[in-house]
Amino acid sequence: MIKDDCIFCKIAKGDIPSNTVYETSDFRVILDISPASKGHILIIPKEHFDNIFEMDADTAAKLFSLATEVARAMKAELNFDGLNIVQNNGEIAGQTVFHFHLHMIPRYEGDEVNVTWKQHESVPEEQEKLAKAIKKRIQ
Ligand code: AMP
Ligand code: ZN
Repeated sequence: MIKDDCIFCKIAKGDIPSNTVYETSDFRVILDISPASKGHILIIPKEHFDNIFEMDADTAAKLFSLATEVARAMKAELNFDGLNIVQNNGEIAGQTVFHFHLHMIPRYEGDEVNVTWKQHESVPEEQEKLAKAIKKRIQ
């Protein structure tokens, strides 16, 4: 499905120009217009999914397989020191474009990219209970 008012549907279809790195029948890989660092790439499915909760397993499998190829190509070209793969779902998580996309963010010594969080202590019994509860919901 394509959503008429969605900027990434238009980019994925080629109706809005982008710096396309690679394209398959299912995905367009582009340079982010406001990169966190040099070579910040987005992998965008051509089909519209608002977020990960809507994506089917087949598309997800193809997506990550493509991500491994793109990561190796980026590494060869950019020679970065590390790579963050980030994918935001929901406004609270930082999503601003509500068409699923995978961020691939090169990391360089001394860059000011920040994708860290504060770590909290966990309670072993609560963790055990939670793991079981989530497990029950996985088909
Ligand atoms: P998110 O905050 O995870 O939804 O990420 C949206 C990303 O899309 C941001 O990193 C933007 O810089 C990027 N972006 C928005 N519009 C465009 C565009 N026209 N071409 C390329 N990247 C874009
Ligand atoms: Zn869309």
